[in-house]
Amino acid sequence: MDLLTTLVDKGLRRELPTRDEALAVLATSDDELLDVVAAAGRVRRQWFGRRVKLNYLVNLKSGLCPEDCSYCSQRLGSTADILKYSWLKADDAVAAANAGVAGGAKRVCLVASGRGPTDRDVDRVSRTIEAIKADNEDVEVCACLGLLSAGQAEKLKAAGADAYNHNLNTSEGTYGVITTTHTYADRVDTVQQAQAAGLSACSGLIAGMGESDADLVDVVFALRALDPDSVPVNFLIPFEGTPLAKEWNLTPQRCLRILAMVRFVCPDVEVRLAGGREVHLRSMQPLALHLVNSIFLGDYLTSEGQAGKADLDMITDAGFEVEGADTTTLPAHRAAADAGCGSHGASGCGGHEGGACGTHEGGICGHAESAAEPVAAVAAVAEPVAAAAAPVAAATGPAGPRTDLVAVRRRGAGTDLPPNA
Ligand code: SF4
Repeated sequence: MDLLTTLVDKGLRRELPTRDEALAVLATSDDELLDVVAAAGRVRRQWFGRRVKLNYLVNLKSGLCPEDCSYCSQRLGSTADILKYSWLKADDAVAAANAGVAGGAKRVCLVASGRGPTDRDVDRVSRTIEAIKADNEDVEVCACLGLLSAGQAEKLKAAGADAYNHNLNTSEGTYGVITTTHTYADRVDTVQQAQAAGLSACSGLIAGMGESDADLVDVVFALRALDPDSVPVNFLIPFEGTPLAKEWNLTPQRCLRILAMVRFVCPDVEVRLAGGREVHLRSMQPLALHLVNSIFLGDYLTSEGQAGKADLDMITDAGFEVEGADTTTLPAHRAAADAGCGSHGASGCGGHEGGACGTHEGGICGHAESAAEPVAAVAAVAEPVAAAAAPVAAATGPAGPRTDLVAVRRRGAGTDLPPNA
């Protein structure tokens, strides 16, 4: 297929595909799927070999958020039966982080619900970061605390944070349909604040919210322009009790096409398979390892993932290897450019000029803010997206939605049960 030959050539040169080429990847047929995976797999291996980086989530503060992100089980008005707790003590957070590191995680992602941290919250998280680093000198720590205010990124950096996550989640054009309490521009601003402070930026998306192919391409191209070092790709976990509970729009094949498209657009960036992989890729998860070079180990923020041991077995069985602490994740040209600066433009993924964990509910938090709208109003706002979605049966295949795969997390941080790492 000429399209795939072109995309592989561009990916190996770190050259940006055209929008039409990215759209064409999403439009390929099931008959072409293995060719698409093989092509994007060549680009993945060029920049990341057969290594898989493991990341481990610690939910520092769960639920009770004043924001109205429609996809999120922690949102204002959510009736999802999730764990709700305020800030974990540093010792408990360290114990949770240690479990992830013992399971093979190279990065620990410290996530807290809410619009954004107060300065006191930043001090509290800074102490937790220092305690984790004292126990695990080599572990990377990423903070995901929502929208940042002036000076906060610098404080986190000084405490030893390596990275900051804040997701764009969806295209600028559809952002107001998904969330009303903060804006797309707010999110871009926080990612740029993190980059300016010298933190490695992590920013990604959530697919499956009823968006069009053009929306997906828009957000991935926007991410490439923003130039994060890692791009988490979440697949919506439609939690009962949230406005998007009925949004079952994804098939395993669709998920693989989306991941391939992200790899072609961001060839040398850490592409991370995040929340929803068990629910939507199901038995096709190993194929996704040919596209992404990073996954979360074990459970997500408010939902359960497959057992950490199953993650490790899957990586080995598929012929990949867990990336060790002594290996630099990013290719030399990006690692040397410091905190993700590269040179975007014609030469490929690279630097934001001058210069966020991505687990939405069960994936990675996007985080936002403030005086929330009444729930009914937000649900009504979310309706057009639901209406735009493909019919459920057609989108999810003969088996229909696998609602049985959505399990609220009952173990790990904030519980008396050991984490699933
Ligand atoms: S994504 Fe973050 S900011 Fe939005 S509702 Fe969930 S916890 Fe709150």
